[in-house]
Amino acid sequence: MKEARKDLLLPTLSEVWGYSDLRTGQREAIEAWAGGQEVVALLPTGGGKSMCYQLPALVERSLGRGTTLVISPLIALMQDQVDSLMGRGVMAAALNSHLSRYEQEEVEAALEAELLDVLLVSPERAAKSQFRELIRGCEIALIAVDEAHCVSSWGHDFRPEYMRLDELREVVDAPMMALTATATPRVVSEIISGLALKNCEVIRGDFARPNLRFSVSLESGKDARLEAIVALLEDKGMRGNTGDGKAIIYCASRKKVETIAAELRSANFRVGFYHGGRSQEDRQKAQGAFEAGRTRVLVATNAFGMGIDYPDVRVIVHAQAPGSLEAYYQEAGRASRDGEPGYCLLFYSAGDMVLQRRLVRDAKDRNRSNEALAGMEAYAMSTRCRQELLCLHFAPDADVTACGVCDLCTDGDAVAAGLEEKRAAKLASIESLADFELDIIVSAVGNLRKPVGKASLARALRGSKAKALRKYGLQNLPEHGALKTRSELSIISAIDGLLRDRRLAPKGQKYPTVWLPNKPVRATGPKAKGARSRSTTRKTRPRSSNLHRALELYRNRTAKKLRWKPYMVVHNKVITQLDAKRPHSIEQLYEIDGLGPAKVEQFGYELLDIVRRYDQ
Ligand code: ADP
Ligand code: ZN
Repeated sequence: MKEARKDLLLPTLSEVWGYSDLRTGQREAIEAWAGGQEVVALLPTGGGKSMCYQLPALVERSLGRGTTLVISPLIALMQDQVDSLMGRGVMAAALNSHLSRYEQEEVEAALEAELLDVLLVSPERAAKSQFRELIRGCEIALIAVDEAHCVSSWGHDFRPEYMRLDELREVVDAPMMALTATATPRVVSEIISGLALKNCEVIRGDFARPNLRFSVSLESGKDARLEAIVALLEDKGMRGNTGDGKAIIYCASRKKVETIAAELRSANFRVGFYHGGRSQEDRQKAQGAFEAGRTRVLVATNAFGMGIDYPDVRVIVHAQAPGSLEAYYQEAGRASRDGEPGYCLLFYSAGDMVLQRRLVRDAKDRNRSNEALAGMEAYAMSTRCRQELLCLHFAPDADVTACGVCDLCTDGDAVAAGLEEKRAAKLASIESLADFELDIIVSAVGNLRKPVGKASLARALRGSKAKALRKYGLQNLPEHGALKTRSELSIISAIDGLLRDRRLAPKGQKYPTVWLPNKPVRATGPKAKGARSRSTTRKTRPRSSNLHRALELYRNRTAKKLRWKPYMVVHNKVITQLDAKRPHSIEQLYEIDGLGPAKVEQFGYELLDIVRRYDQ
């Protein structure tokens, strides 16, 4: 049996398709199947995934065996595949919700009469018990699961019906083959367990796309990004009404899609836009116009994509970085499927990652998402050939060579200089905080009701009124807004310093939070009443100004350092006057009662500095 299968492979390939050989990845996948194993085949988009099950389907038929079932979520493309197979003399049919009752019955009858070589089924249909009853007793040679990454609950392609496909095994005894263009080792293991694959061989195809020029821009400003997009589109001849080639601009949000589309339209490009918020009809129109070349640029969210195959997309821009390298490669990989030169430009900034993080709502997905974002960052900040990095990401054991066309291969020095500049700018934007400001942080943590994350604390200290902070009661913190003049990064880096010095203690495993060392965390829940009343008394107490608190902290800190009593540094009434008069010069300091020349000389400049910072 195994030998018979292997002997039939190449003759069938050349007879039905006219191809002389299998491609890398296809060969390994089909040989594993022929040898009796179940298979997960990871082949890049355009790598010829459908051949992996179409050829086995025909070989099995020649050997007198049954129909190959293909589960595919792309109903819109099923008919194309059926037509193309029928055109080669292969008996193929599809079952999905688009068929009339009569058409369905016809397909079911053909299946029962064992006329079909290939039957394409939507996952919704395949998961139904009626479908299991239909195929019970039919001879099924192979079950191919296309777009198998849909079994993973992570990512925007998740289809719950995929989790039920293993139930097909209860009614038929056929091996499974899973196919996808995108899979990290983790998704692969989810595919294997979700489909209950046995004796399984994982095949990775060749992910290199030597005709694509990958490049990254670390530009974060939206005007500068737009300018660069316009220049690229212009350079690749996308302006004209006619001409070859198309471009897709991917954005992370629907709103961004619409603004960029409008801006490109006013820059005289023929532009359409596509996102999940538009009606089915509008989306079809936008896709149709793009397909026909009436619009040459399509601005879209990731709703536009799976199963899309236009050979002449020459430019793919990510105007905002996506949430994972898998998503990026799948989307960018839609460029130049015909092997002609194509251009893939990714814009990346920390802000894009913040946006992506916000898009992850489900707490349980956050860890994986952070990992995915780290992969994205590593790609953007790489100094190694982009193509090499992508290939290694998908096939860690791959033999890679530098592509010679990406921005790093052609212009590595400039890219490295740009990276260096970014790093320096980031470091420069982190100021170190004064001692009294560190005290403010510690005192704020002392006033917390429960541990909070560094970023939330930093935002509260900067005076943020964001809703998310309200949840923790952070806007009622006496120190709220006390470090207004400092950047969030500076405060976070100061918190890190305090953690290192053990003036603060880390708490929590999954979401690292900060707390005072040795202070017990009070249980919330029924006892929270007490906490609530505490916060109301805090509200009714007259709140002193930020400046007042900063001066107090400075005084206490200085007193400690000098081993003085706090009033020996400055009196309360001096602080009150400083707060009221807000002096800006040494002369003005002399007008404060109780602050003689000796004190002015000793503390004057520091006091002025604090006033300057908090006088707002
Ligand atoms: P995918 O589903 O992986 O995106 P397809 O199955 O649509 O890719 O195949 C992409 C193209 O490659 C198709 O035009 C197909 O006919 C062609 N192709 C597939 N296998 C071979 C092969 N062994 N030799 C030559 N062309 C092939
Ligand atoms: Zn390269």
